[in-house]
Amino acid sequence: MKALDAVILLFLFLVLAVGLGLLWLNIPGLPGQPFKEQEFNINKTELNYETKGVQFYPNMRYRDKIISYSVSNSCDLAKKKDVERAFAFLAERTILDFKESPNGELSILCSEIAPEPEEKGHFVAGEGGPSEIINTTTFSVILSGKVSLYRRTNECVRPNVAIHEILHALGFDHNNNAESIMYPVTDCDQILDTYIVNEINSLYSTESASDLMIEKVRASQTGKYLNFEITIGNFGLKDSPGSNLIIYSDDTEVKTFVLEEIEIGTRKILNVTNLRVPLSFENLEFEVKSSEKEIDKRNNIVELKLEEIGQ
Ligand SMILES: [Zn+2]
Repeated sequence: MKALDAVILLFLFLVLAVGLGLLWLNIPGLPGQPFKEQEFNINKTELNYETKGVQFYPNMRYRDKIISYSVSNSCDLAKKKDVERAFAFLAERTILDFKESPNGELSILCSEIAPEPEEKGHFVAGEGGPSEIINTTTFSVILSGKVSLYRRTNECVRPNVAIHEILHALGFDHNNNAESIMYPVTDCDQILDTYIVNEINSLYSTESASDLMIEKVRASQTGKYLNFEITIGNFGLKDSPGSNLIIYSDDTEVKTFVLEEIEIGTRKILNVTNLRVPLSFENLEFEVKSSEKEIDKRNNIVELKLEEIGQ
């Protein structure tokens, strides 16, 4: 009898020990192994042209090299012609194209508009300039621009006034060369500078696409549970319609999260607690996958390594 009691007792102890062990492994929230905290700085796309301060802000451009515009009904026929000729002139000399559309990014107005105080920063030229921009660090993306042709009709062979104002709306500032079309005082003999053409062609050589990037990620493991916080931003030229965040532990897929639309210049923060993972692994990988073309996909993967305890 006594021997049997001892065996039963031992068995119960074993069950208890195994149970406690399993409990420890499966209870979330106990102090765990932290993954090396990592932060990633925005990876600026290297553009192979010099910024000479020719634009109001560095790297100003519209989303696409085909820019839509609308012409207000307040513009008379002569001014409408000027605008069309100005766009044709620029389209012929640069990689840009312009198309008329009711809700165009670039509004051509013909009434006298004084820049509103809060707009002054962007609407620098008074009569033409970007009116809404988003800084995605790689580019200052112009979401909308305005041109006001309130002066009397252009008398030059070339519509220099309209070209000057459209160039402002494309982000170009005045210069101090009296022979340039961007000189503050307009003259019929002024020419379109090569630096402007080169700048435009260089800026718009980047294809319009989104650029999702893992900006920051922090993770810790407790038994079989993983907690993490990840920041994903869109630093491109186009909104991202949707993507997936995939998590791997030592190359094994753990979980996929569906990310909805991420507009340009915005971020999404995902905070996840108690995600089941294998008990032991060394590497954790986060990957943002989209079926869309992106400016740079190299910034879509981040690998975290287990931090040695005591280090
Ligand atoms: Zn001007």
